[in-house]
Order: sequence, then C-alpha cells, then structure tokens
Amino acid sequence: MKIEIFTIFPDMVSQWLGASLIGKAWRAGVLDIAVHDLRAGAQDPHRSVDDAPFGGGAGMVLAPGPVFAAVEAARPVRPLYLLGPAGRRFDQAMARELALSRGFSLLCGRYEGVDERVGEHLVDGEVSIGDYVLAGGEAAAVVIAEAVARLVPGVMGNQASAQEESFAGGLLEYPQYTRPAVFRGWAVPDVLVSGDHGRVARWRRAAAIARTMQRRPDLVAARGGLSPEDKALLAEFGFDQLS
Ligand code: SAH
Repeated sequence: MKIEIFTIFPDMVSQWLGASLIGKAWRAGVLDIAVHDLRAGAQDPHRSVDDAPFGGGAGMVLAPGPVFAAVEAARPVRPLYLLGPAGRRFDQAMARELALSRGFSLLCGRYEGVDERVGEHLVDGEVSIGDYVLAGGEAAAVVIAEAVARLVPGVMGNQASAQEESFAGGLLEYPQYTRPAVFRGWAVPDVLVSGDHGRVARWRRAAAIARTMQRRPDLVAARGGLSPEDKALLAEFGFDQLS
C-alpha cells in the first residue's frame, strides 16, 4: 500500500503519520508513505506557490505551475485526489475501497483554494472529509491516510477488530469496557463477565443495534430497518424496552 501526499507543510503531515502504530508500520515497510513538498515545484527564489485570484476577491490561490511541476516530477501512484469541500464525501466505505487498492495520492490545497485547472487536468477526482471548511488539506489528508492505513493488514495489532467496529455492516460498535468490573459503583453488564462467549457475542450485536437506533437512526434506515433476528436479539437483552 503506497500513500503519497503533496503539501506545502510536509513536516506537519510526516510528524502526524510518523507517530503511533501507523508510523511503526511505515518504518517497517508495511506501508509506503511519501510526503512531497509542493514548494519543490516553485520556480522563483522565494519558492512561492500562490498568487492573487483573477477577478479579484479575498485571499490567494494555489497556482497551477508549482502544483503541476511537483506532481509531474514525483509521478505519484494514482488515483491522485485533490482535497476540497466540493469533493466526494469520504466515509468508511471509501476507506475500505482504498484499503483494497495498491495505493493512492492526496493533494492538499491551501489559501482560498487551488487553481481550477489542477482539478480539471491533473488529478483524478476530489475528496472532502465533511461539510465544513478547513484552512488547508493537511488535516483532511491525515484523516484519510489514517482511516485507510488502519484497515491495511499488519498495521493494527488485531485485524479482527476492523470487522466489528463502527460502520462495518452499517452499525455503530457495541460499548466497550475494561477492568475494573465495578468502577465508582458502576458495574459493567453482567453478561460480559459471565464467560459465556456465545451470549457475549449476541449481547454485543444487540447493543450495537440498540445504540445505532438511538444515535444514528439514519444508519438503521439505510440498511432497511430491523430484521426479525435483530428484533429477537433486542428482546433477549431487554433493549427493546428502551425508549
Ligand atoms: N475557498 C474554498 C475553501 C478553501 S480551504 C471553498 O470555499 O470551497 C483551503 C483548502 O483546505 C482547500 O483547498 C482544501 O484542500 C482544504 N479543505 C478545506 N475544507 C476541506 C474539506 N472539507 N475536505 C477536504 N479538504 C478541505
């Protein structure tokens, strides 16, 4: 899995991705991450990459010259996605899709945005991490790189966890508990300390369904509502009594 990122703040991105289990996988060669400085594509002594917008208006625009030059020199793994609020909304399904690929590249915008010719003639698509405006694409790039990288086999400690966690199967994850079994008088659910693995698995599924119904009814609707098995599971553990 190769991930390449183009940015005017390469240190910011490298530091983030160099920490934690993802950094470990990077150093071990499980992940191949390359962070490219967009300023390498600048032609002038000041290494400037931005210019004023045609037509006037506030702020500066990332100019096409340096961006094309940096990308063409690096010849990154494709698809190359521009990060921006107008892009396809990134979600766990897209993370899974990218994790199955051999790699992808991300181009971080800055200032008021990126010259439109980059979007039209250099990249393969545009991706957004949500309906809000960031100061730059770097935070979006690390969000995407991290969400994808942790799905790549060998990056996280326990692969099984990726199959049960939130958004897998259209549900949020069940609640997690660790020791102590009673903390400040609050006990963990009895079933979790029962040693009955079948019952634990059923409780977790029921709790995941109940939590998704409460917090994200849109996800339950998207999977076609509750099946008869779902309803039976909810009833088995009393989750159907919740309002
Ligand atoms: N003026 C632009 C926003 C520019 S923000 C507009 O109104 O659409 C500067 C840069 O931050 C963008 O070029 C993009 O690379 C990044 N960015 C901002 N919001 C983002 C988001 N929701 N998802 C991904 N990248 C984003």
